[in-house]
Amino acid sequence: MHEECGVSAVFGSPDAARLVYLSLYALQHRGQEAAGIVTSNGSGMHSKISMGLVGDIFDKPTLDQLTGNHAIGHVRYSTAGGSKIQNCQPIIANTGNGRLAVAHNGNLTNAIQLRKKLEEQGAIFQTTSDTEVVLHLFAKSKETGFVRPLLDALRRLEGAYSFVFITKKGILAARDPYGVRPLSLGRIGKTWVVASETSAFDLIGARYVREVEPGELIDITAKGLESHTIRTTKQKAHCVFEYVYFSRPDSKIFGHNVYEIRREMGRQLAREAPPPPGTDMVIPIPDSASVAAMGYAEESGIRYDMGLIRSHYVGRTFIEPRQSIRDFGAKIKYNAVTEALANKNIVLVDDSIVRGTTSRKLVRMLRRVGVREVHMRISSPPIIDSCFYGIDTPTRKELIAANLPVEKIRAYLGVNSLAYLSEQGMLNSTGMETKDFCTACFTRRYPIKLEKALKHT
Ligand code: SF4
Repeated sequence: MHEECGVSAVFGSPDAARLVYLSLYALQHRGQEAAGIVTSNGSGMHSKISMGLVGDIFDKPTLDQLTGNHAIGHVRYSTAGGSKIQNCQPIIANTGNGRLAVAHNGNLTNAIQLRKKLEEQGAIFQTTSDTEVVLHLFAKSKETGFVRPLLDALRRLEGAYSFVFITKKGILAARDPYGVRPLSLGRIGKTWVVASETSAFDLIGARYVREVEPGELIDITAKGLESHTIRTTKQKAHCVFEYVYFSRPDSKIFGHNVYEIRREMGRQLAREAPPPPGTDMVIPIPDSASVAAMGYAEESGIRYDMGLIRSHYVGRTFIEPRQSIRDFGAKIKYNAVTEALANKNIVLVDDSIVRGTTSRKLVRMLRRVGVREVHMRISSPPIIDSCFYGIDTPTRKELIAANLPVEKIRAYLGVNSLAYLSEQGMLNSTGMETKDFCTACFTRRYPIKLEKALKHT
């Protein structure tokens, strides 16, 4: 499963482009396919949008050209729209109400329907991304200015969105009424900053102020900050997977620290599925399961150790040797330390199992270095369906837990025992109101209506 995107925005700093650039660095884990920044100096807009990693796209001369006191940025992992440069963000549009650019984290669930209607009315789309719909709705609104047409447009959207917009006057930030994806507001002195995760604030020395509330549109200009209501719902649907895996553990999202919640998920997992007698150590699949494994070790009183080492320098693609090497894809990312693991009985903690193929390879790797018993523990429930709210998930057909019961998954992985964290255990670990979460990929209870074209395959 891949996080789809990260967004950030800055208002009121001559260094706006650099602050957004650094924020995107801190959000790079949310998307590694493309990145972009748009700035405004009050009259024109400047932009640099390209495929690749933040560090490769922006150099000093590029950032020097991105002048202006306000800026927005985006890192992308494509979900809706596919992978091509036209779909990279921010997307800029010239409208009757002025120039506007948008960056989006999430996925609109009525975009196909809206797009069809807009096209019938003569709209010409530049991209295949769902995000462009909001610009067309904005352009078509009979309201004037920026805020009112935008409210008009946002009220017609269904699904998950954390948006940042830039106009020549300032920046705007909006979050869907269910608050599916995170979006936080911070300050550095008088400068306002907005970002998907607060790890971006830490890097640029910003102070966390609050969440952009679900259903809120924030408008920040030289006049100050104004808050507007898009729509309110009683029910919220924060993505629980942000706590399980996607967000950085040093971030605060939905108002709570990820590290503490992830550690509690590990503790709860140990209470629900304790290690069998004779277990020598608890090891994580690094890095994403490290914090949950620590919680598991703490609660069970069994030593936490690193037995698998992850290489941090592997990109998304690599050229395999001509002669096939067994489990090469897993080996290039992970290696097992024989000296630490030989003849040991271990609990292996992971945050989730998607297809099961990587876990199986890792278990084989552990067996090869002489691990005796592998007891696998997963710090979330079985993933049984796809996400339609902005996470790139395989289809139902490819998800192992959608197709096999736990015992068969255990046999496929080649482990001695396998246990998952319960849904209630996962939700209780957040310490928050449990009804305020989306758990659809674990439960098939989709909190936001899906249009017919979004099929389960
Ligand atoms: S379906 Fe799963 S990944 Fe998608 S928003 Fe809901 S909890 Fe998050």
